[in-house]
Amino acid sequence: MRELTRRSVMALGLGSSALAASGRIALAARPQRTVVVMFDGFGMEYLEGSAMPVLKKWASEGIFAPVKAVMPSVTNCNNASICCGTWPSEHGVIGNSYFNQKTGQEDYMEDGTLLLAPTIFERAKTHGVSSALLTSKKKTTTLLGRGAEIVLAAETPSPEWETRLGKAPGIYSREINYWIFEAALNILADRTDIGLIYVHTTDYPMHMWPPEATESQEHLAKIDTLLQRISQAAPDAAVLLTADHAMNFKKRCWDLDRALEARGTPVQISISAERDKYVKHHRGMGGAAWVYLKQAGDLDKVRTVLSGLDGVEAVLTRAEAAETYNLMASRIGDLVVLGDKDTVFGDLDVPMETLPQASVLMAPYMN
Ligand SMILES: [Zn+2]
Repeated sequence: MRELTRRSVMALGLGSSALAASGRIALAARPQRTVVVMFDGFGMEYLEGSAMPVLKKWASEGIFAPVKAVMPSVTNCNNASICCGTWPSEHGVIGNSYFNQKTGQEDYMEDGTLLLAPTIFERAKTHGVSSALLTSKKKTTTLLGRGAEIVLAAETPSPEWETRLGKAPGIYSREINYWIFEAALNILADRTDIGLIYVHTTDYPMHMWPPEATESQEHLAKIDTLLQRISQAAPDAAVLLTADHAMNFKKRCWDLDRALEARGTPVQISISAERDKYVKHHRGMGGAAWVYLKQAGDLDKVRTVLSGLDGVEAVLTRAEAAETYNLMASRIGDLVVLGDKDTVFGDLDVPMETLPQASVLMAPYMN
């Protein structure tokens, strides 16, 4: 990729007359096409533990930097931050779930009205660029789809797309990620008017298999060949790949409602920020929880009890957490509880459960 492609031309800042004089490239009347891949759950361990020759070549020849996830490091907040280019304090997506104080219900964060910042698709549109949101998971379309001309979820594909690409594999599979990449390739070939494609995979394969597992190696090798096909199908395009979070095995889960009740400090509700509809991956357990008090006066004693639980790394007030992690204060709990590397929070039948060795991998609260 060292020849004079549109990418390097843009980087060099050559004017169009210089380009025409070079005779080596057709002039483009529109901006460079861009593919953003949000490779869900693709933590550094997966990159380091796999061959992925195409991606590693890009990393060495292009731009590469390990970065931290936004907090809490669950899919929705990071997907929204990647898609909007802002902190959760601005776009307002603070988890896969949140406590809707108007209804008194624990709701999934899937409704686009909860997203308070412009999406990359809306921003592209203001520059005359049409875009496509392609995702394995349906929830991404309702949360982030605003402004995209093409919106496709492999989980609920239209008959037209299945005619074009074949039947979409199930949501709990590796193959669904390959299918959504095929959709991107189809658009790159047939819809050259689309200037921006955002591809969001599912992290089901990472939740199921550690980096060294054969299933994981096969998944990453296949994705690598799909990346190569993207660069071949659209050599003009910039391809940007990032992830939302990493993951690791967890040893224990706390049900904070039950644990606090049992210690004489009941609360209104506790919510795992990880909880979403895709429970097969992680049972809704995650390393960050919001705790809503019954009354403000309970704060100190509840905080003290939470701090004493095995595996609780930090307990912050709403203001402390919003300040430290750029969260939207109005959407998080009175207290924010963070587990250590081994600890998650979720709904159980008992206050605490020791998780089996073979437990699925889960996202830590931050990495
Ligand atoms: Zn994820």
